[in-house]
Amino acid sequence: MKFVDEFRDPEMAKKILERIHRLADEISPAQEKPLQIMEVCGGHTHSIFRYGLEELLPEKIELVHGPGCPVCVLPMGRVDDCVAIAEQPDVIFTTFGDAMRVPGSKKSLQQASAEDCDVRMVYSPMDALEIARQNRDKKVVFFGLGFETTMPSTALTVKQAEKEGIENFYLFSNHITIIPTIKAILDSPDMYIDGFLGPGHVSMVIGQAPYEFISTQYHRPLVISGFEPLDILQSLLMLLEQLKAGEARIENQYKRIVPEGGNLNALTAVSDVFELREFFEWRGLGSIDHSGVRIRKEYSRFDAELAFAIPNLKIADPKSCQCGEVLKGVIKPWQCKLFGKQCNPETPMGALMVSTEGACSAYYSYGKIETKNIA
Ligand code: SF4
Repeated sequence: MKFVDEFRDPEMAKKILERIHRLADEISPAQEKPLQIMEVCGGHTHSIFRYGLEELLPEKIELVHGPGCPVCVLPMGRVDDCVAIAEQPDVIFTTFGDAMRVPGSKKSLQQASAEDCDVRMVYSPMDALEIARQNRDKKVVFFGLGFETTMPSTALTVKQAEKEGIENFYLFSNHITIIPTIKAILDSPDMYIDGFLGPGHVSMVIGQAPYEFISTQYHRPLVISGFEPLDILQSLLMLLEQLKAGEARIENQYKRIVPEGGNLNALTAVSDVFELREFFEWRGLGSIDHSGVRIRKEYSRFDAELAFAIPNLKIADPKSCQCGEVLKGVIKPWQCKLFGKQCNPETPMGALMVSTEGACSAYYSYGKIETKNIA
């Protein structure tokens, strides 16, 4: 049994940081540009700011906050689709809490709820199914959101609904997949990432093997990391050791949670219920091939996209929102003109300010930003 204090030990953190500083000097004594390390997962972004890790790192390492917060990459058009479903008669629209406040082009789900739509916050898709059992005269829609981490529970809920013959339960699938997204980042001409902190929770489901292409085709290292401060520091150290040695391997720092082969039961449930879409639209990153999933034909009676009229429009973010540039690491959150002024956690203009895993929200809450630095 490991206790959380072991992963927050300041003395151990100091020792790892000394090695990180030394290695960063050795790797890039003459390098003008800092090493770009992307933490793919929003949970890592949150931990990095919560524990002030970025400030402890050498200037030669720059952390790029990646697209692994599902709420943050949800495009406005999809929020509009949610609202359009919620506004239809006899619908109870259910969603995780952090999706309630994501702005659509006209309103958020929270605003729709204030205008008499029946929008309910749930903690799991099974909660939504229970609402469907108790409200047989209503159509209960669950807003399926998230990467491979949350996909299995949604898939199992659809299978349960099928088993029980529940006819008033629907899924609006906005589930997304991590591997095509990392590939899109690696192919992007705007970005050069030297190495990745791999997502811990997603990897618990998919395992280690799907990342191998990053090493074999793109020659970059990736270390699957846990979320405690020492996990993240140790993972950074492992990345630097590889970079110093000129290696590009996939390593697993989070072995206490992530099995090498992933979770077969979870993967089976996902592949039973879902299939890849040809493409999916991401906020800030545009359309990425095979990066989202929809419900398979066998379960199509649960598919909200077939059961409800939805606008399905591509809506551009307001010009002043710079979420896309933040997501690509082109600017830091506080360099967005709206940061801390029109856009703050109370009144978010962009999705990165909504979720606690969003880079802008994390910077705002923990970033020790001096007001004079806000653009
Ligand atoms: S401050 Fe707001 S609008 Fe600007 S990038 Fe962050 S979330 Fe988007």
